[in-house]
Amino acid sequence: MRLLLIEDDDRIAGPLTEGLGRYGFTVDHVRTGAAGLADTTAAPDLVLLDLGLPDMDGLDVCRSLRARSAVPIIMITARGEEADRVVGLELGADDYLAKPFGVRELIARIRAVTRRAGAPAYTPTGPAKTPEPHRPSFGAQELGPLAISRRTREVYLDGRPVALTPREFDLLAYLAEDPGTVCSRQQIMDTVWDPHFFGPTKTLDAHVAALRRKLGDPAWITTARGVGFRLTAPGGPATFEAAG
Ligand code: CA
Repeated sequence: MRLLLIEDDDRIAGPLTEGLGRYGFTVDHVRTGAAGLADTTAAPDLVLLDLGLPDMDGLDVCRSLRARSAVPIIMITARGEEADRVVGLELGADDYLAKPFGVRELIARIRAVTRRAGAPAYTPTGPAKTPEPHRPSFGAQELGPLAISRRTREVYLDGRPVALTPREFDLLAYLAEDPGTVCSRQQIMDTVWDPHFFGPTKTLDAHVAALRRKLGDPAWITTARGVGFRLTAPGGPATFEAAG
């Protein structure tokens, strides 16, 4: 699998290229947006795009790439670029990773994104993608009014789609693996973030807060003080069934 890495910072690009190489990826590294857009000779299977580039706005690079190709794009963002991430996802990027991140986390994202993309990576986009049907897919898991499809990474509440970031989805899907059971903060960080994640886990609380808000009821996720979190349907039994 050939990756195009557009990143001006060699302190990030170097270890990344080396780490990905160890997992069998071929990485072509360019340092500017212009060079990334000029790279059409050998079609990449996936683009890793740093948003902070010296010559042009990474979001413009994202837009240009998406205008001519369906190649999966993962944005690499710095802290405090929350607004850029949202815009990037709207422009057609498939996912994002915030610095710092581990190679294993990146590879998990690459696998998830290419699995979702399904089709050969570098094909002309043509007409807009057909939207997913607004119904939980066969095999979605249901907890009361909540339906989670791991296959399509979609979440429905009372039949209406809930827009989650990739990480919010991963967190919800993880908690939903065993509803009613408390998952420890460390378990969650190891699984949903990265086994090599070091640093404050405040980001976990922020994601839990966002999920509670998007699910419309804080009772979906209860805090086991000093331990972790668990998922239960508000006012309902904590049973999870496969749909259909
Ligand atoms: Ca940069």
